[in-house]
Amino acid sequence: MSRSVTYEALVLRVRPSGESNREAFFLTPEEGIVRAILYGGPKSKLRSHVAPFHRGTLWIYRDPAKDSRKVSDFDVRSWRPGIREQYERTIAAGALAETILAGHGGGGNWDEALTLADATLDALDTADERGAAILLVQFLWNWANVLGVQPHTDTCASCACECPADELLWYSKQEGAFVCRRCTDHMDPANSGAYLPVNPGVRRWLTVAGSIHPAELHRYTLDTASAAQAKTLVTGILTGALGRRLASWDVR
Ligand SMILES: [Zn+2]
Repeated sequence: MSRSVTYEALVLRVRPSGESNREAFFLTPEEGIVRAILYGGPKSKLRSHVAPFHRGTLWIYRDPAKDSRKVSDFDVRSWRPGIREQYERTIAAGALAETILAGHGGGGNWDEALTLADATLDALDTADERGAAILLVQFLWNWANVLGVQPHTDTCASCACECPADELLWYSKQEGAFVCRRCTDHMDPANSGAYLPVNPGVRRWLTVAGSIHPAELHRYTLDTASAAQAKTLVTGILTGALGRRLASWDVR
């Protein structure tokens, strides 16, 4: 028995499959990542609708006997044309999609994952070059929360002290948590390779980035060095959670 299923869906990736078909990957609140074959030549309307970062309602035709799924229709509600107009936006959106796929759509928190991805992509659609890179860092920080690996920014995991806001902390890759200066005194964290520095400005920014809508992020400035430190931190956290570092995080 075959049947048709409807989803709210975000297109994450489309790639060639076989001679003339394509394989599409969607994020849905109903089932997480949904993979389906997209039939039709390069000029087909359906193929132009099912393109990365488009958001809308998806119809999938399922054939349980063959264990196959095909896209039967996709009604686009958000096209986000701006993402493809600028290199930095495209790069950031691509890294976002790869991160979601690597994390299996959010490990069960699919609704939250889709809300976060939508908000970030909407902001990316009009972001400037620097803003696009920072939006990716914000997304990765909040994605750590979706995966349940976002560390507390104001307490030391080792001595449990409340860390003063103006203090530099270290992120322990092994513990997946922040530790204070006193607890790292004897181990030379800067040279051990097991710790990442987190300056007070980055901590403040992370707290803000975790609580505001991506569209508001441009109001909170972060200097170049701090932005680089924040990115090293969030990609370090996710490398630990996913078991590998994604190449798309480092594309410039
Ligand atoms: Zn401590």
